[in-house]
Amino acid sequence: MTIPREGAHRTEIRCGAIDLGGTKIEARLFGAEMETLETQRMPTPVGDFDSFMAGLAHQTGWLLERAGNPDLPIGIGIPGLMDPETGVCFASNIPVSGRNVRDALRQRLGRNFTFGNDCMSFAYSEAHGGAGEGFQAVVGLILGTGLAAGFCVDGRVPPRHNGMAVEIGHVGMPAHALSSAGLPVWPCGCGKSGCIERYVSGSGLAAIGRHVLGRPLEAAEIVESSAKGDPDATRVLDIWTGLAAECLLVLQLVLDPDCIVLGGGLSKMDGILDRLTPAFRSRLLGHTRLPALVLARHGDSSGARGMALLALDADGKETPAG
Ligand SMILES: [Zn+2]
Repeated sequence: MTIPREGAHRTEIRCGAIDLGGTKIEARLFGAEMETLETQRMPTPVGDFDSFMAGLAHQTGWLLERAGNPDLPIGIGIPGLMDPETGVCFASNIPVSGRNVRDALRQRLGRNFTFGNDCMSFAYSEAHGGAGEGFQAVVGLILGTGLAAGFCVDGRVPPRHNGMAVEIGHVGMPAHALSSAGLPVWPCGCGKSGCIERYVSGSGLAAIGRHVLGRPLEAAEIVESSAKGDPDATRVLDIWTGLAAECLLVLQLVLDPDCIVLGGGLSKMDGILDRLTPAFRSRLLGHTRLPALVLARHGDSSGARGMALLALDADGKETPAG
């Protein structure tokens, strides 16, 4: 199970992971210290389930081939739900809803793989050798185009009835917070209204900007303009900060973690911890303590790293680990 690397030495391939997204399927090989050895990306076939499965099987097959090991532990992160009992999936960005990805991949490649939610695997990665190492209850909160979270307790993914992650993105934003921010209750793609994701994600920040300033703005433009001292952009970012702090408070009220790790594009905003920490502190209930609020250590590959670690732990068992 070795391949030549940089022409000088041979490196052990320990495990692999597949990062499934709406635009790309990325396969990643990890070495002995969980360092990335190689990646291969392909556009996600989003037309139908069969073409999607052909793409997933191609990328998974590439991992096995590069490793020269048909038993290589491989974790596959689903951007959505997989029922732990039936294997049936639900996702909005890839054409798998109502279909059994687990069985379909087994039929194509003749073996089992470890499946899990990509936010759970992010939390797992950061709890194991990441920014959440040493904490007891770690929430991983991804502030990307959308918003989602995962949770680890004592380094383990807790059992879940539906295989859900921490679906904080589709919890309602507290009414008082929207009212004091002067924002309407916006409908959400999930079918409900007023979901936290509609305000606190990257697309939510852009929507707040559009509503407050009356012109279309990207989230990145708002962040950049505010950093240059633009008062309009700063006003928008201040509203976002208050709502993001409400999101952190909801996580605390429900899960009471001792650490919240931030990932995703918005977490790369300069000074985000200095913004969020006082806003969060001002909302605490009574004399409760803040959890550690930290930035992800393993960057954009943290979810894939977590899936690979979960596959190592699952040791060939089929049960979804994450
Ligand atoms: Zn929603």
